[in-house]
Amino acid sequence: MQKVRAILIGRMQPVHNGHMQVINKILEDVDELIIGIGSAQISHEQKDPFTAGERIVMMSQALAEMDVDPSRYYIIPMQDINFNAIWVSHVKMLTPPFSIIYTGNSLVKQLFSEEGFEVRQPPLYDRLHLSGTEVRRRILNDENWQELVPKATIDVMDEINGIERMKNLSIKEISDI
Ligand code: NAD
Repeated sequence: MQKVRAILIGRMQPVHNGHMQVINKILEDVDELIIGIGSAQISHEQKDPFTAGERIVMMSQALAEMDVDPSRYYIIPMQDINFNAIWVSHVKMLTPPFSIIYTGNSLVKQLFSEEGFEVRQPPLYDRLHLSGTEVRRRILNDENWQELVPKATIDVMDEINGIERMKNLSIKEISDI
């Protein structure tokens, strides 16, 4: 029988427990999931501190922590392109064939539904705390960010000196003030 394959695309800056819970839920409904690491070309910026490679390690190790069978997912980095009207074709070029997209992002929803894909809204898990913005805010303010992310994200942060990187990126140059 043909496999039901879906996609979830996110910047994952960084990978947090909301991403992992939603992935767990989606895997109850479909055979295989493509996890797109979005804005792959951007790193070392305040809202996007981590490289695509670093985010791939966070995600693959977090999936291993959850004991997800590796034959059920693909992790694919995806650069942004300037042209929204052809972004869906760009994503299709990079991925195995899929028929369903899970997204809470209204632009992503609009672009994929115009191309005839089934768009599903994933359930939101504690969005107030489980968001990349909140994780990054807590890291910069020395608050408990560790409770919001899988162990894999903490390990990668240690490996790459992620806290120091984020703090350095947040220091404004005199010329910016
Ligand atoms: P994100 O990391 O904020 O979220 C990714 C997904 O995870 C979302 O769809 C959301 O539903 C889910 N999620 C996050 N927190 C959750 C929680 N607490 N509970 C449940 N689910 C949760 O990423 P995003 O901003 O949606 O990513 C879209 C990507 O697509 C970006 O990289 C963007 O640049 C890219 N994009 C590119 C183009 C272009 O290149 N022209 C156009 C549109 C989108």
